[in-house]
Amino acid sequence: MNGMTTEACTIGVDLGGQSIKLAGVDGSGRIRVRRQTPIDASRPVEELAALMLSEIEAIQAEARAAGLTPTTIGMVMPGYMDRERTRLTKAANLPTLSGTDFLGMIRRGVKLPVTFDADSNAAAVAEYRFGAGRGVERLIVVVVGTGIGGSVVLEGQIPRIFNHLAGSLGHVIVDARGPRCACGAQGCVEARASGRALERLAAELADAEPTSRLAALRKERGRLTGVEIGQALAEGDAAAAKVVRECGWWLGAGIAAWTPIYAPQKVLVGGGIIGLGEPYLEAVRAGLHEVGMPHLTADIVVDAAALGPDAGVIGAAAIGMAAAESGKV
Ligand SMILES: [Zn+2]
Repeated sequence: MNGMTTEACTIGVDLGGQSIKLAGVDGSGRIRVRRQTPIDASRPVEELAALMLSEIEAIQAEARAAGLTPTTIGMVMPGYMDRERTRLTKAANLPTLSGTDFLGMIRRGVKLPVTFDADSNAAAVAEYRFGAGRGVERLIVVVVGTGIGGSVVLEGQIPRIFNHLAGSLGHVIVDARGPRCACGAQGCVEARASGRALERLAAELADAEPTSRLAALRKERGRLTGVEIGQALAEGDAAAAKVVRECGWWLGAGIAAWTPIYAPQKVLVGGGIIGLGEPYLEAVRAGLHEVGMPHLTADIVVDAAALGPDAGVIGAAAIGMAAAESGKV
């Protein structure tokens, strides 16, 4: 030993369809070392497991070099897991892993205890433990990207109702005669308030209002994404403001629909959409309060999530830490 004092850390691993993200996270939720590697999800399971194990080895070495001692590994991934969370039964983005012993391969290949969980749970656990939801008894974190994902923490615990989630919050129906959702249902909050819905509505308004800044930006850049919508909004464009108000309002309606079930005290909104800033959050609050049961919605705090794109690895580590503390690894 060189006499350097070492500090414990947890390795958070976020496995997605396109990359593996890893981080050494300390006891206060700070990322101290990080790695990211692209993957080819079509490769055989043995190859992906070998890559994962070498990445876990590498991040542990980096953590030790930074004076940290890894004690636990928390890993999250997309798809369906069996009851004991020892097997991925179906993973659309990682097809070669479905039904295999991938999790066993990882467990046998490392010396530390490992926990596995659904990636959708990571954001809420991360915000509950280290972010803007610290100590909130009934917390919902909703991530608005291409689709909408929601996760719930109730009194520090993840409610595991189906597929280890509290529910598919993005597919709660808010507009039963509204547009068809990618999931096949009609009028899901995702069909009204996702990034995809935002871009579709912006395109419609750019067509309807050819003198708007939205229409000009589409002509200039050949596209209308959140970036262009945000820029038009910042420049005071009325059409962009309307798009943001509408999509925010529908997310608020979604929160109103979740409220009689979970009675959240706080709802944190994360994902790229937060780049639209306070006007967006104001629209979400307006939708919630106009639509929801006044008695239940009056005191709900709606705010931006604090941890951004790192919520996945921080949440994975936080789930590992919680399991280690409760002796359930
Ligand atoms: Zn849906």
